[in-house]
Amino acid sequence: MADRKAVLVGGGITGVLTARELALAGWDVTVLEAEHVGAGSSSRTAAGIRQQFSTPGTVRGMRYSVGFYKDFARETEDGQSPIVQNGYLFLYDDPKQWAGAQRRVEMQHGAGLVEVEALEGDALFDRFPWVGRDAVIGGTHCPTDGFLHPHLVYNEGARRVRELGGRVLQNAPVTGAVTEGGRLVGVKTPKGVFEADLFFDCTNAWTRRLSRVLGCEELPVDPLKRYLWFLQREGAMTAAELQAMPLTICPSGLYCRPENRETLQMGKKHDTPPQVDFTYDDQDLIEPEFSHKGGLDGVPFELWMELAEVLPPIADFGGIQATTCGYYGTTPDHNPFLGYDRALGGLVHLVGFSGHGAMLGPFTALVAKSLAEAGQDVPSVVIDGFDVDVTCFRIGREYDHSEQMVI
Ligand SMILES: Cc1cc2nc3c(=O)[nH]c(=O)nc-3n(C[C@H](O)[C@H](O)[C@H](O)COP(=O)(O)OP(=O)(O)OC[C@H]3O[C@@H](n4cnc5c(N)ncnc54)[C@H](O)[C@@H]3O)c2cc1C
Repeated sequence: MADRKAVLVGGGITGVLTARELALAGWDVTVLEAEHVGAGSSSRTAAGIRQQFSTPGTVRGMRYSVGFYKDFARETEDGQSPIVQNGYLFLYDDPKQWAGAQRRVEMQHGAGLVEVEALEGDALFDRFPWVGRDAVIGGTHCPTDGFLHPHLVYNEGARRVRELGGRVLQNAPVTGAVTEGGRLVGVKTPKGVFEADLFFDCTNAWTRRLSRVLGCEELPVDPLKRYLWFLQREGAMTAAELQAMPLTICPSGLYCRPENRETLQMGKKHDTPPQVDFTYDDQDLIEPEFSHKGGLDGVPFELWMELAEVLPPIADFGGIQATTCGYYGTTPDHNPFLGYDRALGGLVHLVGFSGHGAMLGPFTALVAKSLAEAGQDVPSVVIDGFDVDVTCFRIGREYDHSEQMVI
């Protein structure tokens, strides 16, 4: 029996992958999930995974995540891979932004992402014939980016935790704290009190509320509603073309990717106030203007037309079939908080993923293991022999290095 105990609050991608990582390192782990595994954003995500980030550390971290998800097929019950590597294609129409993107590609090459390319003219339009020649001036493409099957990640992650001797308890909301001398030593749930040497807050969009329950510091993580829409393929684009499409990001930040051979998923962030006290039902509540049922006056129809300006064959699609939604847990600089609470000992926060938590999951778990082993915040983690700086994820940092590529 392992002698070091960890309790993880929240059974989404972050909680289960971190529990798995700690269990492999010899920790006795228990995940406490208020509802059921995947009850939060992890089941409502576009699940895009890209290594095209704007700092070398994040590029290396995301390379680690991609490698992890490829290997994770070996740990799933029937060998199914959780990752589809269709690539990511960022498109640009503004010369200044395109110049910046080309500089980023050089930085990304330096950080080991050798396969990312900056494409212009025929090199771009011949490879991606569904991109409008008049709509963009260039694009960056990384063929090893793509998207995940998130249910495989959290369900198989939870199964793996149990296989490694850990526990994943559902319907176990954390409702109180047991502290000793300024340190968290136990958490209360309707299923009893769970004691541990170390606790992890993996509640993302719920973190402010969990903080009030635990009496620790409340981090600036705002739950923001985000929508996805699903369009039915029709017209000139074939099923094979749709299925092979990379996750494509238009200059306006509007993005799309194949859901399957017949359906295209589309999303775009919008201005919306934070909803700190959202309910589980609110996660699926669709405001009328964002519903595909709103017809020609609704936001989804406008976005479909916006998408068709950049990707003309989409204009002939059959219509928008469905709308889904969930919450981002957004921080001031769009980077997560991965670090020790400054008011309460024995507690690590892994929250504030700002729309990147599915892709960051394996990297987060790696950082969490380093934090657990060190017993304090660490400046870096080692990936492929490189020291990857993680001070940009510290609690209490200055928000002066915003992640620039947020969609
Ligand atoms: C529309 C949309 C599109 C997205 N697109 C992408 C994308 O392309 N790529 C990407 O990487 N990410 C994307 N994201 C973000 C990603 O889904 C999240 O960052 C990620 O799922 C967060 O996982 P998590 O495990 O940290 O949190 P969650 O999955 O939200 O899990 C938190 C869990 O904590 C539980 N919990 C809360 N309070 C308590 C308590 N008191 N006690 C016990 N349990 C509690 C909840 O029930 C929940 O299950 C998207 C999100 C949305 C909504």
